[in-house]
Amino acid sequence: MPNDLGLLPTTTVGSFPKPDYLKKARSAVRKGKATEADLKDLQRKATRECVAMQERVGLDILVDGEFDRGDMATFFAEKLDGMSVSGLVRSYGNRYYRKPIIKSRLGRPRPLTVEMFRFAQELTSKPMKAIFTGPYTMVDWSFDEHYSSRRDAMLAMAEQLHAEAVELEKAGAKFIQVDEPAISTRPEEMDVAIEAMGIVVDGLKATTLTHVCYGDFDKIYPKILELPIDIFDLEFVNSEFDLLDRIREVPFTKGVSVGVLDVHTHKVEDTAKVEGWIRKAIGVLPIEKVWISPDCGLKTRTEEEAEKKLEVMVAATRAVRASL
Ligand SMILES: [Zn+2]
Repeated sequence: MPNDLGLLPTTTVGSFPKPDYLKKARSAVRKGKATEADLKDLQRKATRECVAMQERVGLDILVDGEFDRGDMATFFAEKLDGMSVSGLVRSYGNRYYRKPIIKSRLGRPRPLTVEMFRFAQELTSKPMKAIFTGPYTMVDWSFDEHYSSRRDAMLAMAEQLHAEAVELEKAGAKFIQVDEPAISTRPEEMDVAIEAMGIVVDGLKATTLTHVCYGDFDKIYPKILELPIDIFDLEFVNSEFDLLDRIREVPFTKGVSVGVLDVHTHKVEDTAKVEGWIRKAIGVLPIEKVWISPDCGLKTRTEEEAEKKLEVMVAATRAVRASL
């Protein structure tokens, strides 16, 4: 892990709330009242505003905000050869979404995220974190009508994502995050998830991260440490820092980006409370391996809430740093 960042680097998981003008533009494109080029201009405007906000807040590692992504799986499915996207499928409760379908052999006709990464990186002198969805989650969230096993599909997906990672690195990415929010749902598949991740990150020099949403962490820990990743970005607030008890029993051998903001509530955290959580985390984890971030993506918050929450996170982190 590079140490030129100083102690307790701050970052975010990746997604930010979409401005209203972007939602309107998206629906205008669907109705044929605006063009894809119009939408792209507005996605860049949102990216510029988001990067400026992250600089204002004082985060150390920035993200592009994912304004060109509707959903973290369909975005990639629409760009990869061999995939299409279903009609609306019902998930929990009344939530409907479109599910990717693997129809034939996967291919990557052109880069998926590189153009937006470059655009965002050029807006700032701070490092921009490159982010894409990992092979396990991509396949887990898709219907597979082509490959003979989930493993075959995941390994094929991993090859495509490896090519993406190599190009991101060539474009200057020093931090590459391969999101695997689905990985905690099926502990029996950890081996194939690890194998697939090995293909994605093979030979990379960049610091690698992964974001895993909290599931039944007990069932995947400590096995998850075998994922060939440098820093694990994990939810802590959501489980009221129970994870630390597990880590006390079986030490975490990798870097951890500790989630200190609840992304599910409108309420902006109290700085002293967040400071307390950071201190609790570094009481158990070696401080030189700790990053600070929100529990998950901020896309469900309002723009104002996202900024206020991040201000609290940075203020709390600075208070802890000052006391070291
Ligand atoms: Zn998450």
